[in-house]
Amino acid sequence: MRARQKIKAPLNLPNGETCQRSALRLRSGLVILRIMKSEIVNPKSKIKPSLLPVMEHYYTLQGEGFHQGKAAYFIRLGGCDVGCVWCDVKESWDADKHPKRDVRSLMSEVRQTPAEIVVITGGEPLMYDLTEFTEQFQHAGYKTHLETSGAYPLTGSWDWICLSPKKFKAPLPEILPHANELKVVIFNKSDFDWAEKHAAEVSKECKLYLQPEWDKAARMTPSIIEYIKAHPKWELSLQIHKYINVP
Ligand code: SF4
Repeated sequence: MRARQKIKAPLNLPNGETCQRSALRLRSGLVILRIMKSEIVNPKSKIKPSLLPVMEHYYTLQGEGFHQGKAAYFIRLGGCDVGCVWCDVKESWDADKHPKRDVRSLMSEVRQTPAEIVVITGGEPLMYDLTEFTEQFQHAGYKTHLETSGAYPLTGSWDWICLSPKKFKAPLPEILPHANELKVVIFNKSDFDWAEKHAAEVSKECKLYLQPEWDKAARMTPSIIEYIKAHPKWELSLQIHKYINVP
């Protein structure tokens, strides 16, 4: 018995979801309606196809903060409107200058390495919905780490969140309790107050780091050392990747 299949218009469900349906008309005249659950799409879902502007990606050592010295695969997304005057990756700011990549193609490159940690950095990665991206990497067994200024809403599923708040565009208050690590770049002495303001808003478990801005390191590091000695809840973070000449 052969049947003809006709795709019908999407069906709107009472809960706001939409699902695809098709009708099978049997020769007997009987019509069977098929609801294709696997194609259910929630229009309110934040999950978007993970096409992301990627400026660069490479396997290296994490140079900063709590995971300093560990091997990690870095994926640097393009796009940032935070505008730090001392930014060392200004070429990341314009997202349109960087090719769009999907999760699958990026993961195939990560898989060519023995990496266990994938670090999403920027730019400002939270300009994008990272839900699908992180779910797929975690599903494949990777630890997902985020480096963010916190200027955009938190999306994604993270094993580690490094929050580095910037004066040029302050972090959203709701992101602070999620930080595993607060890393404040010290460019001048007023940044110590900026650091304390945010340290008061993170969780008790959150690691606290002060990191000299690279071009001011010679001038600011002695002040940071004295500050940490006087306020031992803080630790020093150095950009060791720049000292050992790895990306
Ligand atoms: S948030 Fe990061 S990428 Fe954006 S301007 Fe500041 S340092 Fe540069």
